[in-house]
Amino acid sequence: MKYNILMTQEPVVSVKNLNHYYGKGSLKRQILFDINLEINSGEIVIMTGPSGSGKTTLLSLIGGLRSVQQGSLKFSGREFFGASQTELVQVRRNIGFIFQAHNLLGFLSARQNVQMAVELEDNISQIDAITKSKAMLAAVGLGEYVDYYPDNLSGGQKQRIAIARALVNHPSLVLADEPTAALDKQSGRDVVELMQRLAKEQGTSILLVTHDNRILDIADRIVDMEDGCLARDSHKGNIGYESGAKTNHSYSF
Ligand code: ADP
Ligand code: MG
Repeated sequence: MKYNILMTQEPVVSVKNLNHYYGKGSLKRQILFDINLEINSGEIVIMTGPSGSGKTTLLSLIGGLRSVQQGSLKFSGREFFGASQTELVQVRRNIGFIFQAHNLLGFLSARQNVQMAVELEDNISQIDAITKSKAMLAAVGLGEYVDYYPDNLSGGQKQRIAIARALVNHPSLVLADEPTAALDKQSGRDVVELMQRLAKEQGTSILLVTHDNRILDIADRIVDMEDGCLARDSHKGNIGYESGAKTNHSYSF
């Protein structure tokens, strides 16, 4: 039965007893404390918590942007602890990143910004890369703007390009660090609803950090970070999507 296969599927992210430190010698400071977290396939998890509590640090570890110092962090079953930089680069191809500042390149058009991500894939012709980039921009409602440069687009439109870029290779995970922080209320809402829709269509998991209480309802689950600890992990239950029904976690809180 398909449902049972989903129930036993390996989590996309599995973090166990993860600690992290910045600084050396007497300046060494522990930032993350015994983090345990699993994210299942297709699940949308929102992480909240005060500034400085360690959210970005955890995101960068999960994204393979930083080396794991202590504990276990697996992405689709692959252990990051002890992984080489080359291995991390390989794994990062399966992860889409969306940051607070959209991180688009100003001298490239919308299409070229998305196409850059497509061309990280091996064996794709330029024609196919262009077609794929245009289709993804159309999917985020920017079909008319493929040749525009970021400077000539609104904050919400730029963030939608960043979403297109993050999702164009159909990654199994999208990591979004305060993606609505620079947007007005309505644009922020539009952007997360778009991420939610595309992720559900593609079966992509999302881990999204936000301070914005108004978007919490898009999550299947909410976790809170406090002083480097995961203080709360609440199930919101099934909010009408299939993935809500198939989640099957065990936590040690
Ligand atoms: P958040 O994203 O929740 O605001 P961060 O993960 O950015 O938290 O930061 C957690 C703590 O680690 C903060 O005290 C911050 O000052 C510190 N920190 C973040 N990055 C570094 C770094 N590269 N070197 C040293 N300390 C850092
Ligand atoms: Mg941060």
